[in-house]
Amino acid sequence: METLKIAVIPGDGIGPEVIAEGVKILKRTAELDGRFQFDFTYFPWGCEYYLQHGRMMDEDGIDQLKAFDAIYLGAVGYPGVPDHISLWDLLLRIRKSFDQYVNIRPIQLLNGAPCPLLNGSKEKINMLFIRENSEGEYSGAGDWLFKGKPEEVVLQTGVFSRKGTERIIRYAFDTAKKSGKSVTSISKANALNYSMVFWDEVFEEVSRDYPDVPTYSYLVDAAAMHMINDPQRFEVVVTSNLFGDILTDLGAALAGGMGLAAGANINPEREYPSMFEPVHGSAPDIAGKGMANPLAAVWSASQMVDFFGYEDTGKTLLDAIETLLEENRVLTPDLGGTASTSEVGDRVSDIL
Ligand code: ATP
Ligand code: MG
Repeated sequence: METLKIAVIPGDGIGPEVIAEGVKILKRTAELDGRFQFDFTYFPWGCEYYLQHGRMMDEDGIDQLKAFDAIYLGAVGYPGVPDHISLWDLLLRIRKSFDQYVNIRPIQLLNGAPCPLLNGSKEKINMLFIRENSEGEYSGAGDWLFKGKPEEVVLQTGVFSRKGTERIIRYAFDTAKKSGKSVTSISKANALNYSMVFWDEVFEEVSRDYPDVPTYSYLVDAAAMHMINDPQRFEVVVTSNLFGDILTDLGAALAGGMGLAAGANINPEREYPSMFEPVHGSAPDIAGKGMANPLAAVWSASQMVDFFGYEDTGKTLLDAIETLLEENRVLTPDLGGTASTSEVGDRVSDIL
């Protein structure tokens, strides 16, 4: 039997509440599957830790995490700890150190999930967003010239390397090829005359290696419109760091809201651990009340099971979430129910 070593960072706010349900369900999943088991190690890192130690994680935290097969993260963030600290000293540090250059966000409307579109309940929405997660508009490069002077100029530089652009696009094509789907590239070459012209060129080049995969290309503004008017046209979608950030939040709203939005930060070469996390933050407004929706964390757990190659079991887990939604009985308040976080976790576990 394979033992999968998981570093669990429950984090702050609702993080520990939803991760507890995710871990419970992962254990049950492994029991039922029989081919693998989990070995969970907990790390008390986050903003509470920061307030005591002046850092979000141990100095050698990255070294400690290296030995694991994956990281399962709740959320970090706390009123009183600036976002740039909580984000940069933990989340982005892990993403960067472990070269998790693929951000995967399923935008899939499950049966029973609420959708703000009128036709949403009738037609399936099923997109897989693959967002570049290591460079692009979020490279951090830039300059601030003549600060405070009349001629003040601020530069924010997008960095698109050939290596970085090619590998994310190739990952999208490999994913689409495996599942017989199309790939849509989202860019903006008419306005961003260096970066996005380059992106489109690389997309075109890589697509030649996958003659059987249908391809489409949209400007980001048009894509935003189509995601509302006709989301069914999108299957695997590949896009840059900034565009992916914005459009996946739009996607989360389409597919049931933050309580259902799952994400994975992947190092496809498996040189380093990948990280699985619900997309939502620590949500201090509802923390400690037992009313957080754990389904985003559970969905991320299902992505983790997929990632380890047990895709049939990952699917079983996703099906259990869908059954729970269809039952429309044991749901947290964000989905119109009155159940607690752990009641939802227990119900998913029973359905499994
Ligand atoms: P952070 O600063 O860490 O991002 P946040 O308060 O901004 O935390 P978000 O994840 O951005 O939290 O969520 C915004 C709001 O959506 C929350 O304040 C909360 O009311 C709601 N929300 C988020 N996640 C959940 C969840 N899992 N279940 C229920 N409601 C949620
Ligand atoms: Mg937030």
